[in-house]
Amino acid sequence: MFDWLIVGAGFAGSVLAERLASQRGDRVLVVDRRPHIAGNAFDRYNEQGLLVHQYGPHIFHTNSQRIFDYLSQFTAWRPYEHRVLAAVDGMLVPIPINLDTVNKLYGLSLTSAELPAWFAARAEPVEVIRTSEDVVVSVVGRELYEKFFQGYTRKQWGLDPSQLDKSITARVPVRTDRDDRYFTDSHQFMPRDGYTRMFERLLDHPNIAVMTNTDYRAIRDFVPHRRLIYTGPIDEYFDCRFGKLPYRSLRFRHETLGQEWALPTGTVNYPQTEDYTRVSEYKHMTGQVHPATAITYEYPSAEGDPYYPILRPETAALYKQYEALAQAATDVWFVGRLATYRYYNMDQVTGQALATFDRIEAQVPRRGQGGAMNDNAAAR
Ligand code: FAD
Ligand code: UDP
Repeated sequence: MFDWLIVGAGFAGSVLAERLASQRGDRVLVVDRRPHIAGNAFDRYNEQGLLVHQYGPHIFHTNSQRIFDYLSQFTAWRPYEHRVLAAVDGMLVPIPINLDTVNKLYGLSLTSAELPAWFAARAEPVEVIRTSEDVVVSVVGRELYEKFFQGYTRKQWGLDPSQLDKSITARVPVRTDRDDRYFTDSHQFMPRDGYTRMFERLLDHPNIAVMTNTDYRAIRDFVPHRRLIYTGPIDEYFDCRFGKLPYRSLRFRHETLGQEWALPTGTVNYPQTEDYTRVSEYKHMTGQVHPATAITYEYPSAEGDPYYPILRPETAALYKQYEALAQAATDVWFVGRLATYRYYNMDQVTGQALATFDRIEAQVPRRGQGGAMNDNAAAR
């Protein structure tokens, strides 16, 4: 009898497995239907010995000392600040839009002190900022919005920014200085030996068993367990009874090139041209020294593994229906990007998992501390 069956070996599932096993002595089985652990953060060495992120570039960044300290128990780190260039009007310019972006694109020599007025003269007033269009045009105006955001977003989501929640494009700030880092978090690092190695260490505990290539639905009735942590898509858990909750997918094209470097920065974005949204080169991130180099193109797709919740009013309403079912389910915890339908980064999922552990500690008696542990596996 397992105390916990955990569905998904990504950040949500693996962090909870580690906490439950190491802090409570609980017996945990983690299953993942993919052939590997680490969820979307999975990385591997390709045939040429280059470390590649199977599901696109993953850069760790956080402002939380607690989250950083927690993960630091399972990995050493390599400092890395991500930089991205956008291919716009035949040039490569920094994104997030900053002073150098504007000066290069328009052949100007504005100063940081002058740029706010330049933006203000172009910004469109928006009474209530609701959409991913509003959030950009209200700051930099329509021309820069169209050049950097509209095409990229239509490609990435298959929707116009006006149809998407403001939080999506608000992930990318606008700057008036020359800071060209993609993130400004206080902690920006890559796990020194890769993400998969970090997950191996997270899951390396005598009370944790891991089964990959294993779908929850195929084993749920055969594996006795007291409680469940579910980190897959929430609609699937409830057999899509209110209809499918949309998730956006991607197809990744991985290439190895027989040259030392391919790109000037870790990622180049294509908001105006190409079918792919961006190309990334891992050696910038991993620091690997190698005569060849590995890159990945990302092609957005409606079909395929679920990667992104599609945040808009219709989907928020549908998610609420599933969330109500989730709240009513006993002895089941829904955690992670797919199960809580949130556009969360890795650190946020880690934080959510740690907070869930605190809630479990408050609610679920420890072994041998009394309190009925009812076996409800048969009821599922
Ligand atoms: P996942 O990693 O998706 O894990 C869920 C697991 O559950 C999956 O492995 C799945 O196979 C398994 N599962 C689902 N259903 C079942 C079932 N029925 N049975 C068994 N197993 C099941 N975040 C950052 O912080 N920085 C970045 O640079 C970054 N870049 C990203 C780039 C891309 C292209 C994508 C898609 C995401 C990126 N993220 C990034 C986000 C990051 O991937 C997520 O925050 C994180 O991986 C979410 O962890 P999770 O455990 O919630 O979900
Ligand atoms: N975005 C854009 N142009 C860019 C970069 C981002 O329009 O050059 C928009 C797009 O809608 C994207 C969102 O901002 O989906 C969030 O970008 P981010 O780089 O955070 O996406 P992720 O890394 O999560 O795919």
